[in-house]
Amino acid sequence: MRMKPQDLSWLEAIRQRGRLNDEEKKSYQRLLTGFQGELSFDQLWEHFLGNKFECLDDVTLDYHGDVSQMDKIFKDGNIVYLADIKNYQGNYVYENNALKIGKTIFANDIIEQARRSRRIFTRLFEDYQLPLEVKNVIIFINEQGRINLCDELPEIILNYEEIPSWLMSLRGHIQTNQNLSWQELIKKYQIPHYGTNRICTTERLKSLKKGVHCAKCGSFSLNSKRYVLECECGHVEVKQMAYLRTNCEYGVIMHHLPLKRSEIIEFFEEGYSADYIKNTLIKYFIPIEPNKKDGKYQNFGQPFDYWFKEDSRHFEKLEKRKNWHSDF
Ligand SMILES: [Zn+2]
Repeated sequence: MRMKPQDLSWLEAIRQRGRLNDEEKKSYQRLLTGFQGELSFDQLWEHFLGNKFECLDDVTLDYHGDVSQMDKIFKDGNIVYLADIKNYQGNYVYENNALKIGKTIFANDIIEQARRSRRIFTRLFEDYQLPLEVKNVIIFINEQGRINLCDELPEIILNYEEIPSWLMSLRGHIQTNQNLSWQELIKKYQIPHYGTNRICTTERLKSLKKGVHCAKCGSFSLNSKRYVLECECGHVEVKQMAYLRTNCEYGVIMHHLPLKRSEIIEFFEEGYSADYIKNTLIKYFIPIEPNKKDGKYQNFGQPFDYWFKEDSRHFEKLEKRKNWHSDF
């Protein structure tokens, strides 16, 4: 499962309930566009290749202090491809070792960044004597984006319409007798993603809109029935899921602190049952000090889908409550 950067989840959660400043708005757009680009490539990958290749998504590698981040890594024959996915709009030119749009030169040179990653991965495989070649592939996933190359480059650079035929040209997995697989080796040096540095102050938290919002349209005026919350847009959510989702949203916003029961009750505000919130915390969250009963729970700082991704079967069952009839 490709996960959103925590920075994006944080901005999304604040945006849902309050205002972003100009810098936050820009970052939100940039992160969202980047993430959507990665999802679009995953779809093409799935469509053309299915399960033909094993791949690693969103890898942050730390090899002896050299850190590199890749959107997708996969192996074809003896070549390991490091894929960078760029969701850029507009006409780009790569000329004299610089990426330009119009006359503006990009400060962060995507080609040089890719080469740096290639050097790190090459050294890793060499040090472990895996006979693998490392190649960069830079993918312009946006249909409204193009790159024209004026320089001869050893990297593979694909415009949107070139992606399908390139994917189809990959040959597929070849069995090799290596004691250590390339994925295991990469995982050995994989580090967690950078979390967000953004902090929501107590004052800002107070200014945010309270309550549960519709998971689909964002509206806060929901009609509470016995088992479900109904929105005017037609979306129906099982109550337990809505409470969990909102708990997690609080966790994202206040990712730097433990979940605190009293604050979460305030976050839901009136109209939502404090007992239901308490029971949800007891049932699904891990107390920091089980003997203390101080209402503090571990905070993973992630949206519901990621926080509980291991429990998807339990939640599929819970979803069935949608069909429980009730006149309440
Ligand atoms: Zn709605």
